[in-house]
Amino acid sequence: MLPAIPQTDLRAEYLELNGEIDGAMRRVLDRSRFILGEDVKQFENAFASYLGAGHAIGVASGTDALFLALRAFDIGPGDEVITVSHTAVATIAAIMQTGAKPVLVDVDPGTFTLAPDRLPAVLSSRTKAIVPVHLYGQPADMVSILAFARQHNLRVIEDCAQAHGAACRADPVSPWQKVGTLGDAAAFSFYPTKNLGAFGDGGCVVTKDAALAEQVRLLRQYGWRNRYISEVPGWNSRLDEIQAAVLGVKLNALDRWNEARRKTAEVYDQNFAGSVVGVTTRRRDVMHVFHQYVIRVKNRDRLREALAQAGVGTAIHYPVPVHQQPAYRSLGTGADLQITEALCTEILSLPMSAHIETKTARRVAAEVLRAVAEIG
Ligand SMILES: *Cc1c(COP(=O)(O)O)cnc(C)c1O
Repeated sequence: MLPAIPQTDLRAEYLELNGEIDGAMRRVLDRSRFILGEDVKQFENAFASYLGAGHAIGVASGTDALFLALRAFDIGPGDEVITVSHTAVATIAAIMQTGAKPVLVDVDPGTFTLAPDRLPAVLSSRTKAIVPVHLYGQPADMVSILAFARQHNLRVIEDCAQAHGAACRADPVSPWQKVGTLGDAAAFSFYPTKNLGAFGDGGCVVTKDAALAEQVRLLRQYGWRNRYISEVPGWNSRLDEIQAAVLGVKLNALDRWNEARRKTAEVYDQNFAGSVVGVTTRRRDVMHVFHQYVIRVKNRDRLREALAQAGVGTAIHYPVPVHQQPAYRSLGTGADLQITEALCTEILSLPMSAHIETKTARRVAAEVLRAVAEIG
């Protein structure tokens, strides 16, 4: 029996960098300053400069980053925020936490990201913002989304939780622009499995707007500019020093790891070309970072079972759209989400990480094609 292939491989990331990571963590322990110290500041600066973003503010999670960015724009009860249902529940949970109402639109059938042509139908006098999700590491159609937002005076807060280092460009001669710098603000997650992952929870808000950055800084720690004096009603949502130290080391590997993910995706793409295995549209104006490699097939559950038996780990992102989950059913009322609803029964995430060898990717693709031929 050949060795099993995991869907994701966090241990390989650690093993590649363990000396540096251990050293960075030990320095934090030696200093014994654990909250909002040197490493957080250093990582915030490094990440902002990596993105070309101006400001990065470390917070406790990606969910909090979305919530605090929305709060910093003063979005709350009575407001509406447009986003997708084909996403991690966190996107919707963060909007709900502000008191605003998430308004769900369908995704594009080619890219599985927010369909800009659905925006006019859900616009209302209460609409304040759009939260596009760069799902699976592929940038949403930001040119169209931003044009619509500017026309109607809406904020755009990018959900970059799956897209660290992904980029877009207006045309083939323009320079790449990283996601997180396209909208008015952006939220990143450093949950361990993300392309840039900590050893626990973490996240950050990114923005070019200095005043907004200052507002997020206040909100993440009780509204304090000076200790013990709350200027605004804030919250506690801080990235800690240990996580920042780990992230600082891993950031140096991010581009290389994203390149490795793209290489694996290319092997899959080549093998699936001309087969019945569906893949998302590969847009030429985006730099995809393949947080996940997702295929679309008719008999998804049987394929998943067959792959499990062949030792190939898979996952489903996500099995139930947010508006069909018990907590959020009311958000589906009157919404046209047919593509989202059809997708969730057909998608399957194949093994994807920065440490998959070419021969392993070939084996996965071969197992998929073999099983699909058998199952139909
Ligand atoms: C992971 C994720 C989040 C939430 O991030 P956490 O750090 O887990 O809170 C939000 N949106 C998307 C699309 C995600 O994948």
